[in-house]
Amino acid sequence: MEPEQVLDKILEVKDLKIYYRSIYGDYKSVDGVSLEVVRDEVFSIAGESGCGKSTLVDGMLRLVKTPGYIPSGKVIFEGVDLLKLPEKELNRIRWTKLAYVPQGAMNSLNPFLKVKEQMMDAILDHSDMKKKEAMQLIMQLLQEVGLSTKVAEMYPHELSGGMKQRVIIAMAIALKPTLIIADEPTTALDVVVQKGILQLLRTLKDKYGMSIVLVSHSMAAHAQVGDRVAVMYAGKVVEVSPVYELFEDPLHPYSKGLIAAVPSLEKKIIKGIPGLAPSPLDWPKGCRFHPRCPFVMNICREIEPPVKSIQQGRFVACHLYGD
Ligand code: SF4
Repeated sequence: MEPEQVLDKILEVKDLKIYYRSIYGDYKSVDGVSLEVVRDEVFSIAGESGCGKSTLVDGMLRLVKTPGYIPSGKVIFEGVDLLKLPEKELNRIRWTKLAYVPQGAMNSLNPFLKVKEQMMDAILDHSDMKKKEAMQLIMQLLQEVGLSTKVAEMYPHELSGGMKQRVIIAMAIALKPTLIIADEPTTALDVVVQKGILQLLRTLKDKYGMSIVLVSHSMAAHAQVGDRVAVMYAGKVVEVSPVYELFEDPLHPYSKGLIAAVPSLEKKIIKGIPGLAPSPLDWPKGCRFHPRCPFVMNICREIEPPVKSIQQGRFVACHLYGD
C-alpha cells in the first residue's frame, strides 16, 4: 500500500466515456479515459484538435450537453464522484474548490458590465463575503494578475485579449480553489502574450498550492508549464509522462510525431504526422493510430494495446512496449 500516493491525488478520472448521439450512430469522443491529477501539479492534456480533450474537460466538470451523454465512468474530485453529486452540491464546490477557465474565455465576459461588477457577482454568488470585502479582494486580484486597479472600472471592449484573459484568471483564483481546469487558455493570443499568461498560471499555482489541468493543442505550452503530460489520440490517452521525459524521449509513436512537429530554430525540416485523424463515429480496429503509424505491425491492426507502466511515472499504450 502507498498511503502518500493515495492522499496526493486530487482528481481521478476512471474509464470515462462521453458519447454524442446522432442519426449515424454514437460519436465516441471520449472512449475510456483514465487519469490522475496530483495535488500541486500542472497536469497537461495534449493532442490534435478533435482528439477529445475539450470533451473530456466537459465531462470532468459535468458540462456535457444533450445530445452528449456519459454512458459510464467516474470523476472523483477530492474523494467525491462529481458525476453523482446533486446539482446543488456541485454548484457549491464550483469556484470555491474547482474553477474553470473555458475555451474562448476572453469572450465570456459580459460586454455590458464593468470588470468590477462581473467579478463582484461571481464572488458574492459563491461566498459569504460582504461587498466592501469583495471590492478589496477584486483590487488585490487585479494586481495579482498583473493588471492596474483602474481595470476594475473598465468594460471588456476597452481591454486587449491578454488583459481579458487575466481578468478571467483573476476570477478563477478569487476564492482560492484547489483545482483550476483551463481549456486552451492561450488560444487566439499572440505568442508573447501567451507566454505571459502561462507564466502567470504557473506563478499563481506555486503561490497558492493549487493544481491546474491545462488543456492545449500547443506542445510548446505544455513544455513551458506542464509537470506531467497526458497525450490523447482518438478519444483515448496513449501516453502519460513527466514533461521533461516526454520531450527528451517520447514513447508512443504519436507523441514522437507531435514533438517532431514542434517548430524550433535548430530544426531545418518540420515533419507533420501523415494522414488524418479518424472519425469518432468509426474508430479503427486495434490500435487507433495504426493507419498513420510508421511502426505498425500485424498485431496493431487487430488488438487494441492496453495502457502499460513502462518506467517510474511513465505509461504508454503501444504494442512496441511490454511483452
Ligand atoms: Fe504504432 Fe502499433 Fe504502437 Fe499503435 S500499437 S502506435 S500502430 S506500433
